[in-house]
Amino acid sequence: MSDMDHKDMNSESGADNSGEKKKEYEDVCFICRRPESKAGKMFHLPNNICVCDDCMHKTMDAVSQYDYQGMLNNPQILNMLNSQFDNRNKKPDEEGDGKEKEEKKQGFPNISFINLSGLTGGGPIPNKQRIRKKDGAGQEKAKPLLDIHSIPAPHKIKAQLDQYVIGQEHAKKVISVAVYNHYKRVATDTMDEIEIEKSNILMIGPTGSGKTYLVKTLARLLDVPLAIADATSLTEAGYIGDDIESVVSKLLAAADNDVDKAEQGIIFIDEIDKIAKKKNTTSRDVSGESVQQGMLKLLEGAEVEVPVGANSKNAMVPLATVNTRNILFICGGAFPDLAEIIKQRLRRQTSIGFNAELRDKWDKEKNILSKVTVEDIRNFGMIPEFIGRLPVICTLEGLNEEMLVRILKEPKNAILKQYQKLLELDEVKLEFTDDALEAIAKKALEKDTGARALRSIIEEFMLDIMYEIPKDDNIGRVTITRDYIEGTGGPLIDIRGNYSLEDMGSMHVVEEKPIS
Ligand code: ADP
Repeated sequence: MSDMDHKDMNSESGADNSGEKKKEYEDVCFICRRPESKAGKMFHLPNNICVCDDCMHKTMDAVSQYDYQGMLNNPQILNMLNSQFDNRNKKPDEEGDGKEKEEKKQGFPNISFINLSGLTGGGPIPNKQRIRKKDGAGQEKAKPLLDIHSIPAPHKIKAQLDQYVIGQEHAKKVISVAVYNHYKRVATDTMDEIEIEKSNILMIGPTGSGKTYLVKTLARLLDVPLAIADATSLTEAGYIGDDIESVVSKLLAAADNDVDKAEQGIIFIDEIDKIAKKKNTTSRDVSGESVQQGMLKLLEGAEVEVPVGANSKNAMVPLATVNTRNILFICGGAFPDLAEIIKQRLRRQTSIGFNAELRDKWDKEKNILSKVTVEDIRNFGMIPEFIGRLPVICTLEGLNEEMLVRILKEPKNAILKQYQKLLELDEVKLEFTDDALEAIAKKALEKDTGARALRSIIEEFMLDIMYEIPKDDNIGRVTITRDYIEGTGGPLIDIRGNYSLEDMGSMHVVEEKPIS
């Protein structure tokens, strides 16, 4: 056996010893890319290459059909082949005299031997393309990750959401109950005559009102994998863009390629209003109605073959089968013209009979979205089958000034708390006056992007502070005032101990007080 062969065998046994990692993931056939659970036992070749039984046989059959013009039976050619290998593995100074060198150089002109390890990038298949083994070989039924007694009750889910999400009381309540019911259904896995229906959720609310944030917080609290996709990037299979099934592929990646875990995760599809049916169009609607159609089977529950570690199916990517029956789908969108559709309906209703005088009252109604019905969503352009598969509808209110101020300071990881923590590391206390917070909220309201504007506004004001403070060790406390936010003054700086006052660029030093 040549040096090279020895090396390969060693490296393989090394990989075997490093064990744990390898056991966690399924082997994937190097040729057909099917995982072990589908293709059966694998042959293990050097360089962590696995080949399934089928492919190995096919290869063997193919090879045995050729005699390579009697090449392998000719001792002279075999010798030459061997010398070629030896030659490649020797360092230059090990080479013999000139004549020997000449002979060895010959080999087969124009034929070089392919090193398979080069094809795998010199190493094993990356973990992101490997499928985790199911727990307990042969045990088909997925063991629920949550057992019925450990699912938190709705009021507990809501209490935890309250720590992060401000306002949106109704939405939090609806979601807590829907999620509780969903996981109860998953945990019991009842298939008797009373089958509990899936409670996929449709979330309607203006941009920046916390839709994504709510779902993210929920997934973190429940410790289930979450995939967030944008409906605008989805197109019907075969068109440029992501296939609908790619969202399941994302979830699988979030679950660390563990199919069981992914099957109990949450998929959030944002901007769902962008795939409304296009009105007055004669062209093929590849990103609207047909995407809704394509999503129907996913929402309801279907076995889908998804590429592992990639967005599209191709010959080089292994496939895994994921059942979406227990995946909770939450679709969110701003549905911009929906308010008008609701108002029109309400006006039509109230213009009949006694209520005629109330016709205009809906124009002033602030939280008009909460009056939404399935009919309105259908008029918006969602197809009835699609809405039917999202039985839970919840609406989020637009944020007002008071809510924005609370968002600044109250959540567990509130923006202000984050900055305070950062400055605390420099032993500086950061404070905001109440009217400064109101001024920030007002500015954010003007931008009309909900709470999303808060961070960018604060970042702008904090830049100078974060730049200047570390320059001077004497600063003990910084207070952000309304004047500073409105550009008519500077922040208040308190000096630590009895040091002399110092002006810091645009900032005014107003008092000198030791910090307790
Ligand atoms: P959208 O409704 O457009 O999905 P997001 O959920 O992405 O909005 O909100 C943007 C950011 O605003 C979040 O990251 C979060 O920090 C903040 N935010 C929005 N709404 C709330 C809320 N009700 N409570 C706390 N933070 C919020």
